[in-house]
Amino acid sequence: QSKAQGRNTYRYYTESLTRAANARLLLESKLRRALEREEFILHFQPQVAMADERILGVETLVRWQDPEEGLIPPDSFIPLAEETGLIIPLGAWVLRQACRQMRDWRAAGMPTMTLAVNLSIQQFAQRDLAVQVGAILDEYDLPASCLELELTESMIMHNDAHGIDILNAMRELGVGLAIDDFGTGYSSLGYLKRLPIDRLKIDKSFVQGIPEDRNDAEIAATIIAMAHNLKLQVLAEGVETQEQHAFLREAGCEAYQGYLFSPPVPAEKIEALLAAPFRPNGSTAEGLPAPR
Ligand code: C2E
Ligand code: MG
Ligand code: MG
Ligand code: MG
Repeated sequence: QSKAQGRNTYRYYTESLTRAANARLLLESKLRRALEREEFILHFQPQVAMADERILGVETLVRWQDPEEGLIPPDSFIPLAEETGLIIPLGAWVLRQACRQMRDWRAAGMPTMTLAVNLSIQQFAQRDLAVQVGAILDEYDLPASCLELELTESMIMHNDAHGIDILNAMRELGVGLAIDDFGTGYSSLGYLKRLPIDRLKIDKSFVQGIPEDRNDAEIAATIIAMAHNLKLQVLAEGVETQEQHAFLREAGCEAYQGYLFSPPVPAEKIEALLAAPFRPNGSTAEGLPAPR
């Protein structure tokens, strides 16, 4: 009996493995086709100044517009794109489309703002990355200072010496550099000090518990103080409530992103947000964002 059961278990196991492998292969070929057909779309999320609720920039966030399944979030396909190397052409497509959009916004006389783009570890490992980025900026007639690239702590640490060379090449080019999801990696203060970066983005997992969770509040306040000691700017991700906003602002955080101001939206919606009447600090009770 146990032998038969063992056989059954084995068969079941290989069947489910095969199913998983097939599903993965199917997704991979769908992703490849999606790239050829350019089935991706960019959404943008405002990055806002705590001081006066002005839009300082936008972060580019890619979505997959699948004809059958609709809008697919990046967490469902970026990991596979990374495993298969498809992230290289996809990442290049994102950067180019984002820069094209930025050129159009500038041509239309939109207020000055920065464009943030996420990089993946594989893009970051390309030796000629700075050259590629410089070429795209030239193509769309954009100053390097309007672009900010988002990296994670682990990307830089895994690459170490080479990683710092790439960062320095970017710095020479003049693009801004931000550390995304800060606090989730293991980089030390001493390590950060050696990096030519401009900004830390506090991971939204620490913002979530503010202000009730004393640990989260303490960590966020510590990151802000530490960043300022290193002459880095700080942006808080995932700000959803007035309480989080008030706490972070009080702690000296310069900027934020989050549903409180706006979720990631299509380009036209950014234009509407920029065109909305400027709400000077104080027009709302404590300089908090006005409800939209
Ligand atoms: P990320 O770069 O840390 O982006 C922030 C994520 O937080 C976005 O998820 C955004 O929609 C979400 N978010 C913004 N405000 C709030 C909020 O108030 N509350 C909550 N709970 N979430 C908020 P999204 O768009 O699903 O992107 C997920 C991740 O996918 C990004 O995390 C980034 O790591 C990756 N990603 C997105 N676009 C690209 C890309 O073009 N290239 C690469 N390599 N990765 C990308
Ligand atoms: Mg990001
Ligand atoms: Mg993040
Ligand atoms: Mg993330």
